Amino acid sequence: MSEVLVVVDHVDGAVKKPTYELLTLAKRLGEPSAVFIGPADKAAEVAEKVKAYGAEKVYTIDDAPLKGYLVAPKAEALQQLAEKASPAAILIPSSAEGKEIAGRLAIKLESGLITDAVDVQEGPVTTQSVFAGNFTVQAKVTKGTPIITVKPNSAAPEESAGAGAVEEFTPTISDGAKTAQIVASQPRQATGRPELTEAAIVVSGGRGTGGNFEPIEGLADALGAAVGASRAAVDSGWMPHSFQVGQTGKTVSPQLYVANGISGAIQHRAGMQTSKTIVAVNKDEEAPMFELVDFGVVGDLHTVLPAATEEINKR
Ligand code: FAD
Repeated sequence: MSEVLVVVDHVDGAVKKPTYELLTLAKRLGEPSAVFIGPADKAAEVAEKVKAYGAEKVYTIDDAPLKGYLVAPKAEALQQLAEKASPAAILIPSSAEGKEIAGRLAIKLESGLITDAVDVQEGPVTTQSVFAGNFTVQAKVTKGTPIITVKPNSAAPEESAGAGAVEEFTPTISDGAKTAQIVASQPRQATGRPELTEAAIVVSGGRGTGGNFEPIEGLADALGAAVGASRAAVDSGWMPHSFQVGQTGKTVSPQLYVANGISGAIQHRAGMQTSKTIVAVNKDEEAPMFELVDFGVVGDLHTVLPAATEEINKR
C-alpha cells in the first residue's frame, strides 16, 4: 500500500484537531505517514498522538534550522521528503501557511494542487465548494503527486492504532529558501474560545444583534463554540474583521453553525453553507437564511438565545 503524507498541524508541538481529520482521510487513500516539522524535543510526544489516529510512520523534521524564516524552507523540506518517500498523495491543512506551503510544493514537484477540499475519497477524488458556494465540484489531480489542502472539520477524526514508526529526516535547506526572514511576531490574543475556522460549533451574529453580542457570546460559551459575525456586524465596528464569516471573511465548515440576526446574503452563505447542521434565529420568517437551515426559530434573538443558553447550562 502506498504512503500518504499528512503534514501535522500544531502549535509548538501541541497537535491540532485538523491533523487527526487528515489522518482519517488519508486512510482512504493508503498508509498514513505523519510529517512533523517542529521542535525536536516534542517529536516523541507528537508521534504518540498521531499514532493513535493511524499514522504508520512519523517523519520528524527538526525545525531549529528552519526557524526565523517564512514558509520556503518548510516547502523545500517537504519536497525532499516527497522525493524520497514517493507518496500516493500529500494532505496539508487548509490554513494560510498550509496553503502557501502547498502552492510552493506543487511547483517544486511539478504536481497538481487542489486547495480547500471538504472531502477526499479514493482516487484521490476531492470535493470542493466553489464560486461563492454556488457549485460543488469533484476534482482529481492528473499530474505528479496529488497535493491537497483540506479544510478543518471536513471529517470526523477516527481513532485507529498505527505503528507510529519514527524516522528522523534532515533536509538540506538552500540559501534561496532563506531569503524571507521573520523580524517580529506577536501571538494572537487568547479569547479562551476555539479558533473560528477549526471550531466544531460556530455561533454567529449579524445586524440583528443591534451591536449587543452578549447573547451570541453567552450561547457560544455554553456550547464551547467560536463566535462569528456577518460583514454588517463587522462594518458597524461591533466585531473585529477576524470574526467575519463569508466571501470576504473566513470560510467555516463546522458540525453546527448557528446564525443569529443574519439575513442569509449569498456572500455570507459562501463562508458557511458547507456546515453540517445549520440553525438560524431570525425575527423575519421570510429571511433567506431559512432556505438553508436544518432548524429555524422565528423570534427575537435577544429572548431566544438567553433562554436557549439557560436551558443548555442546566444540563
Ligand atoms: P442584514 O442583511 O441587515 O440582516 C439582518 C437580519 O437580522 C435580518 O434578516 C433581520 O430580520 C434580522 N433581525 C433583526 N433584528 C433581529 C432580532 N432582534 N432578532 C433576530 N433577528 C433579527 N457579508 C458577510 O456576512 N460576509 C462576507 O464575507 C461578505 N462579503 C461581501 C462581499 C461583497 C463583494 C459584497 C458586495 C457584500 C459582502 N457581504 C458579506 C455583505 C452581504 O451582502 C450582506 O450585506 C451582509 O451579509 C448582511 O449582514 P446581516 O445579515 O448581518 O445584515
